[in-house]
Amino acid sequence: MGLSLNEIKRYSRQLVLPDMGAREQNRLKNAKVAVTGAGGLGCPVSTYLTLAGVGQIDIFDMDKVELSNFNRQFLYTPEDIGRPKVEVAAERLRAVNPEIEVNAIDTVINYDNAFDLLKGYDAVVDGTDNFPVRYAVNDACVVNRIPLFHGAVLMYEGRVTTIIPGETACYRCAFPEPPPAGSVPTCREAGVFGAMTGIVGSIQSLEAIRYLAGLEPSLKNTLLIINADYSIYDRIKLRRREGCSACGETFIPRPVDYSCEVPEG
Ligand SMILES: [Zn+2]
Repeated sequence: MGLSLNEIKRYSRQLVLPDMGAREQNRLKNAKVAVTGAGGLGCPVSTYLTLAGVGQIDIFDMDKVELSNFNRQFLYTPEDIGRPKVEVAAERLRAVNPEIEVNAIDTVINYDNAFDLLKGYDAVVDGTDNFPVRYAVNDACVVNRIPLFHGAVLMYEGRVTTIIPGETACYRCAFPEPPPAGSVPTCREAGVFGAMTGIVGSIQSLEAIRYLAGLEPSLKNTLLIINADYSIYDRIKLRRREGCSACGETFIPRPVDYSCEVPEG
């Protein structure tokens, strides 16, 4: 399927970029992406995927819009308080780009359903806010061989990495175990700087869009750590870990069995 005249106009500023063109834009148009979480990361991620022309975006979340979301979650307005985030986000994004399909999936992701829910996607961009879901998403992506674009923010710090199953380290290679329950403060307790979720979500979407267009993402085997005072802007080398329970020789299901919020999604 080629590009319509409207699409050529809409995407003209990216079609003229070096390495981008009709072929790359068509790859985006044919791509199907899952965004897990419609919060601080999910807002910029789903917005930039929408603007870039990713053909199908499925947003997963089960939260409702609350007043405390508004220092970072820009897809919502006070009139939306109490409505499911995915429903509002999908409405806004469809209005922004009617050329694409945006689906709202108002459901919990857990270790029991992640493997089925996250099947058949060309990429998953993760903006979840708790360890059980984060590990479930990693394991489901590794088993289903789906590229995973990870991001997390807490207080003034953000982290991003790009995981290509079978090729790069996965989240469990880097962090085999979640921290003990209660050892990491939640974003509710410790706070989250709104602009940092924008930076991290933008980098995640940049990586995903480049990958989907057929270009090389920059953060494979690399954990990028960004601090808001720029004292740390670090690239930590990751490598695949032999015996990793997710991407090693034998997959071993290892659900994280505590419920605790983490770095903002
Ligand atoms: Zn691994």
